[in-house]
This record gives sequence, C-alpha cells and structure tokens, in this order.
Amino acid sequence: MATTTKRDYYEVLGVPKNATEEDIKKAYRKLAKECHPDLHPNDKNAEARFKELNEANEVLSDPEKRARYDQFGMDGPQNPFGGAGGGFDFSGFGDLGGMGSIFDQLFGGMGGMNSQHRNAPQAGQDLQYELKLSFEEAAMGCEKSFEFYREETCTTCGGSGAKPGTKPQTCPTCKGTGQIRTQGGFMLVTRPCSTCRGTGKIVTDKCTSCGGSGIKRVKRTAHVKVPAGIAHGQSIVLHGQGGPGMNGGPAGDLYVTISVRPHKLFQRDGTTLLLDMPISFTQATLGADIDVPTLTGKIKYHIPEGTQSGTEFRIKGQGLPRVGSAYKGDLLIRVKVEVPKRLTEKQKDLLRQFDAESTGKEYEGAKSFLDKVKSLFN
Ligand SMILES: [Zn+2]
Ligand SMILES: [Zn+2]
Repeated sequence: MATTTKRDYYEVLGVPKNATEEDIKKAYRKLAKECHPDLHPNDKNAEARFKELNEANEVLSDPEKRARYDQFGMDGPQNPFGGAGGGFDFSGFGDLGGMGSIFDQLFGGMGGMNSQHRNAPQAGQDLQYELKLSFEEAAMGCEKSFEFYREETCTTCGGSGAKPGTKPQTCPTCKGTGQIRTQGGFMLVTRPCSTCRGTGKIVTDKCTSCGGSGIKRVKRTAHVKVPAGIAHGQSIVLHGQGGPGMNGGPAGDLYVTISVRPHKLFQRDGTTLLLDMPISFTQATLGADIDVPTLTGKIKYHIPEGTQSGTEFRIKGQGLPRVGSAYKGDLLIRVKVEVPKRLTEKQKDLLRQFDAESTGKEYEGAKSFLDKVKSLFN
C-alpha cells in the first residue's frame, strides 16, 4: 500500500477542493454504494476502490484532518493516516439519524467480507477424549493407546467433494458469490446462499467415498505417555491430532482428559496418599508392628503403645509423585481402633479382671472428662 501512488482524495470522491461537508458526504454515500465489495464479489479492483474511497472520506469528512491534508498533502508531517485503510471511522455518520441502520447494513458486513475470508487459513477443531485410568496407573504413570474418531479431509476427492475426474460447479443460484442479495429500494440485505450453503460451489457428481462433503470420519489410534502423579480432570494435549485445518491452516489438538477410577483402599489429596486403617484394640493398647499397604507393596510400621483412634501417622516419601519433578508426597495413615465384638465368656472374664484391677489412671481422657463433670456440679 505504501509503495503505490495514491490518488488525490478530492479526485477519489469526485468533488472540488472547495466542496462543502455536505457535498463530501453525498459524494461518499453515492460512491460507497456503487463500489461496495458485496456488489463486486472477488473483484480486487472494486475492493481497492472501496478502500481508497473510505480512506479519502475519513480524511475529508474530518475538518481537522482535511485542513492538515490541504496544507501538507498525502505525505505531510505527522501524517496520522499513514496506516492507510486500517480502520474506518464511521462516527461521522452519527448525525444522519435514521440513516444509521442503512449504513449498518451496507458496512455491517465489513468483518464479513466473506468472499475473501472464506478462503483464509483456518485452524482445525480441537477434540477431547476421556481416558480412564486406574488409581495406580495415574499414580505411577503409564503409556496408553486408544482409538478415537476424527474428521479428516477425504483422500479420494482431496476435500472437494466431487467425484474424481469431475469438478465442483459454480452455484447457479448465487453465481459463485455464496451470497444472496435482496434490494428493496435503498435497503440492501445480504444472506448466505442456501443452495451452496455459502460456499459458491455445488457438487453435481458426488465423491462416493465421502458423499460429497469432502470430509470423512476416520478411526485413529493415539498413543499417550501419562506422567506419574497425574490427577483426575487434568489433560494431556496431543498437538496436531485434532480436526483438519482448512485452506492450509494447522490441524487442531487432541485433549486427553484423565479420569481416575477410585481405589479400594487409598484416596489422594494432591501428592498425599491417604489410608484409613483399622487396628485392633490390643494393637492400639499394647503397641504393635503392623503391615501398611503402599502403592507398590507393603511396609512395616510401628504403632506405639496407647494409640488412640483417629491418630494420624505420616510416612515420608510413600505418597504420589509431583508431575514432572522428583518430589514424592507422603502416606498419611489414619488409624481406627476397633472395639472387639462377639467375645467368648473367657475373654469377657479377662476384661472384667482387667477392669477390676484398673486404677483409673489408664484412661486419661475419661479421667479429665470426669474431673470436668465434677467441677460443674461441685
Ligand atoms: Zn471425497
Ligand atoms: Zn450458491
């Protein structure tokens, strides 16, 4: 743009140097209607003229910019419109009142100058797959393969949808523009062509492989390396394994979302492995070496004498790894003391004997509780 020679803005609008604001407005409105890109699809000249026209109007309709242009010309100092054709300012039309909606319809399609955008590169669709893992697989890491479906460009027709040896035809309804225009007086309404669904082309001899869509649903196998310590709900991104890109755009990504099945024994809180473990009344009272299950086997752990129900013991480094680091969390054992049931008469006698010999010092909790109760009533 910067290298081409620009026409004088007055010449572009076809008005004399001493034209009034009203003259400029009128001239612009007339020309804008004539060379709007929607009326000249795929016409690069019309597009360029329209751009030129808007640029000229942007300057000449603004008294300040116009004065600067009159004084310095196109390449004057502090040229504020150097980035020609960047953004058009239609705020000048605010005083046209009811005209606004008409211009919205004329220019509302600025972003939708679809004739060009339709062919722009587009990234493919991102896909999602839910990968179910066992608790151990997530904790220890694993490698998995799974099958999934994705849409791919049909290899038989190369995506055109036309039977090999034939070509898509120009849509007769919209004559290839992909749009239908209805003009009611000054109003101009544009909508996508329903015959070709806005593509401008129709396929008469359909590719039998894809049924004319140019796209096929294909079963693929993906391979994923799951890092140790991954948590439920986290995702692994397989780049470029999603849907196909359009017009040379990149393929989408495949998001593998991890779903972890619950474990029979363990729960987790981040990198901490949680285990609720029942111990017997005697083990709790006398202390014991117990076998504690871990993710990989079991370890011996000493429970001290007089362990209360609900006590937590932390075993360092027996938890879950943190993804991408050498750190390993802890195993947290929460013991639950089980009160024995269905005792034999002999066992009951032994316990009665234990109680008879009890001095009360054995039960710290009960003693301090009783003391508190006494203090309430004395
Ligand atoms: Zn095909
Ligand atoms: Zn059409």
